[in-house]
Amino acid sequence: MLSRDLIDREIYGRLTEQIRKSKCATTYLFTGEEEEKKKALARAFAKALNCENQSFDLECTCDICRRIDDGNFSDVTWYGLDEEINSLKIGQIREFIHQLGLKPVEGKTKVFIFNQAELLTPDAQNALLKSLEEPPPGNVIILLVPHARNLFDTIISRAVEVKVLPFKDEELSQILIDEGIAPSEADYLARISRGNLKYARKAHDQEWFEERKQWVSHLSRDPISFLDQFTSSKRDQALEVYDFLIEWSRDLLVTHASGGRSILIYAEQLYPFEQLVSQKDFDSLFELFENLTMLRKSIDENGNVKLTLTQTQVVLERFLKT
Ligand SMILES: [Zn+2]
Repeated sequence: MLSRDLIDREIYGRLTEQIRKSKCATTYLFTGEEEEKKKALARAFAKALNCENQSFDLECTCDICRRIDDGNFSDVTWYGLDEEINSLKIGQIREFIHQLGLKPVEGKTKVFIFNQAELLTPDAQNALLKSLEEPPPGNVIILLVPHARNLFDTIISRAVEVKVLPFKDEELSQILIDEGIAPSEADYLARISRGNLKYARKAHDQEWFEERKQWVSHLSRDPISFLDQFTSSKRDQALEVYDFLIEWSRDLLVTHASGGRSILIYAEQLYPFEQLVSQKDFDSLFELFENLTMLRKSIDENGNVKLTLTQTQVVLERFLKT
């Protein structure tokens, strides 16, 4: 997967047009859930601002573009790249403010990119805000966040927002297939990850597809013992189980509506689906979907995991028996 394939050409075109007209803002906010796309766009913008050729060609291989790709160019600085961190603290903003006051060393424009800027602590945001009020010329600051609301309004009002869209299911599925994942799994991952590549890769690494297939067969066989295995789960894991149950019940509805012809997450388990669905009417399938959605909400709102699972066992048993 090449990073240029992650870049929305129209957005990139608008950014390079600003460079051409010398009308770049100082601070940009790249918003969207898809982290890989935001990072690729920020890197491409940093290259366009510094490229030796100024051709704005995404495939430029000049010395500077290559070094920016390798993370080896002193005028492009990244923060928050470590995926394990849970906050970006004021110390990093102090170091950034120090850098901001210096002239570019080898390029034309110094670029500071804050990945996961939603992790900036309130103190760090306040310190950042001061530097955004009167930034020295020759700098571009890019803040990557899922949503604008993740930062103080006072920061947002000083930044130009660029919306980075998530992948479409087909695009994401194709990327995963290119990475060597089997098409049926790629379709499944694309559907559950709502356009988010990182989430899809994580689900692949954790072998969710295989595990979920086993879950489907266990659940259809014996819902009580299926749910019993999660009674001591933490909230996060319980929510994953409910996401699975909701997807499963949605697939039952789709199978019912289409006579089993549509593309399903659990397509390989289609046969038990057809059998199950043929015995049910739409209302009971819809009721199951609604009940599971409600039970998930109760866990999300701090309901007791064990108690909710017991209620769910009753709901599933009733559904499968009638
Ligand atoms: Zn170049």
